[in-house]
Amino acid sequence: QIRRKRYTDYLRDNLDHSLELAVTDQLTGLHNRRYMAGQLDALVKRATLGGDQVSMLLIDIDHFKKINDGFGHDVGDEVLREFAVRLASNVRAIDLPCRYGGEEFVVVMPDTALQDAERIAERIRLHVAGSPFRVMGGQELLSVTISIGVAATLGSGDRPQALLKRADEGLYEAKASGRNRVISRAA
Ligand code: GH3
Ligand code: MG
Ligand code: MG
Repeated sequence: QIRRKRYTDYLRDNLDHSLELAVTDQLTGLHNRRYMAGQLDALVKRATLGGDQVSMLLIDIDHFKKINDGFGHDVGDEVLREFAVRLASNVRAIDLPCRYGGEEFVVVMPDTALQDAERIAERIRLHVAGSPFRVMGGQELLSVTISIGVAATLGSGDRPQALLKRADEGLYEAKASGRNRVISRAA
């Protein structure tokens, strides 16, 4: 009986681990893109049916390629991990910080209006630009900045893809107008 219990515990731990891998980004420990997409679908659907508004931040690290080129891929990875810590510690417990891919991140914010999302985005931007990233065991201090596009659900006809597109347009404009800034798209 003990042997059987050990075996079922082992199977359950394995299953827990597989489920966690399925929803977690391995480098940063944030939610992964797949998990984000599922949550976003449900939240946007609810918002379009008269539920709470949902806001989104699309964040991209500025000139990240220069960090990789100048200090190596491992230091790039360190920056991604440190950024993830700063991001996760600057959002509420109900918000969903995710690694969207590469050096791009998304935060899905339930029950949040556009103006509040802008304020949070600005706070995150300052927490990144305001103090350098300590890498290589403290040997090097890197100045890192981010650009952020912000969007919020509009009403009955809105869709997750449309929300992402508006956030992406904001991000594009933030990059084009000089980086290290927050641009929101009302519609
Ligand atoms: P921009 O300000 O326009 O965003 O410039 P950028 O250099 O950040 O953008 P670009 O898209 O040219 O470069 C992104 C780089 O991120 C290229 C890619 O090699 C690197 N990258 C993507 N994923 C990872 C990763 O997991 N680790 C590391 N170290 N680098 C990554
Ligand atoms: Mg990018
Ligand atoms: Mg970038």
